[in-house]
Amino acid sequence: MSARILVVDDIETNRRLLEARLSAEYFEVIEAADGAEAVRRAREDAPDIILLDIMMPGMDGFEACRLLKAETATKHIPVVMVTALDQREDRIKGLEAGADDFLTKPVDDVALFARVRSLLRLKVVMDELRLREVGRDSDAEIAGDEFQGGHVVVAGADEKSARRFAGMLPAPFDASPCWEPLEALRRARETDLLIIDLTSPRFDGLRLAARARSDAETRQLPILGIVDNDDRSGMVRALDLGVTDVIARPVDPGELAARARTQIRRKTYADALRDRLEESLEMAVTDPLTGLHNRRYIISRLRQGLDAMERSGERVSVALMDIDHFKRINDTWGHQAGDKVLRGFAERLKRELRAVDVAGRYGGEEFLVVFMNAGGDCALEAAERCRAAMAREPFVLASSGESLAVTLSAGVAEARIGDDIEDLLARADSALYEAKSSGRNQVLAWRRKAA
Ligand code: GH3
Ligand code: MG
Ligand code: MG
Repeated sequence: MSARILVVDDIETNRRLLEARLSAEYFEVIEAADGAEAVRRAREDAPDIILLDIMMPGMDGFEACRLLKAETATKHIPVVMVTALDQREDRIKGLEAGADDFLTKPVDDVALFARVRSLLRLKVVMDELRLREVGRDSDAEIAGDEFQGGHVVVAGADEKSARRFAGMLPAPFDASPCWEPLEALRRARETDLLIIDLTSPRFDGLRLAARARSDAETRQLPILGIVDNDDRSGMVRALDLGVTDVIARPVDPGELAARARTQIRRKTYADALRDRLEESLEMAVTDPLTGLHNRRYIISRLRQGLDAMERSGERVSVALMDIDHFKRINDTWGHQAGDKVLRGFAERLKRELRAVDVAGRYGGEEFLVVFMNAGGDCALEAAERCRAAMAREPFVLASSGESLAVTLSAGVAEARIGDDIEDLLARADSALYEAKSSGRNQVLAWRRKAA
């Protein structure tokens, strides 16, 4: 995984040193000598990660970090603070400024690359999500900056230590201690963060983390691992296995809370992006009025059906349905009543059809149902069921209590080898025309006209 890394340090030798090691691993390195330049380069060159020195003349690392995290264009870039001071206050101050992680000088290669890889993996996922946001004023809507708290499951070695760690996370955290790994795994499905004591002699914490990663419901869940202070290889393995962040023993309560906050904030943001992505995908295939598929979607499914028929001889049929005298409903009761009938119509269609049948709104008051793996007789039967359901029971207008008898007519056609979409729909349409002109409230299958 290659990436562009911005190295910020006021001392040139330090920059050279990091640059040499990062380029040896094929990372592209850009540099800045102070906080102000760092912010500028982050804006202009869009690095994937920033390694930020703390003590610099002029604008220091804390201030630069705060600025980076406050700006839409740069707030998503992970910041790792690199410091000579391994002081608790500095770590917490840095995390509070929005830093994603810490490295202590002299920077150890193993720790450096493990952190970089782990943060890059996260960034790739986030970038992918943000990419699909194009055209939306994303950050304006997604809040997520204000920390609202969150639920945390703490998997500790035993009851006492699980409770101790959970106790380090006061409100608005809602931390629940847990000392059975399977129980932790189960509860992790409904939480915002899983903290695992990887030093527990009672269970294999790394295995627990790996299992959480492979379970679809917790795949995206942030995991914070507690490691031994001097266990460098354990830390690296944890990060490589997908633990999102680690904290060293002895655990400082302030640092634990600050790291937990960062993880939950990031998750909240990613969740919001994912929800909106789903929503926009759904909007692209759904008719807003009826909640049925839209025309574009059913046509594309019909195309797939015809392809499957060409390939493997599967049968495909369609029913084109049209509400009878719908214009009268609009004219008599108003457009809103008409809309209500369309929605009610769609409801009944959904009820009568099987889940594998693809029903969509084809146009104003026309609906198209694609029956996969089904011949014309089968489609005829289903369409007839829909017709009967419609005719059986009038729609009742909530406003006036008036009941409206609504019927439908439909034309059914089965696809033939060599058909394109237009051919098939033209036959269904001609059957529909027959149904209309010979009395309405009926379903007819297409038949070759006698010469
Ligand atoms: P027929 O039995 O021959 O199908 O007659 P009809 O009145 O149903 O057919 P026509 O095509 O003449 O009229 C359809 C009407 O449907 C005209 C149009 O204004 C109305 N319509 C189309 N889309 C909507 C919609 O989204 N909401 C409402 N309320 N009316 C719509
Ligand atoms: Mg009509
Ligand atoms: Mg019509």
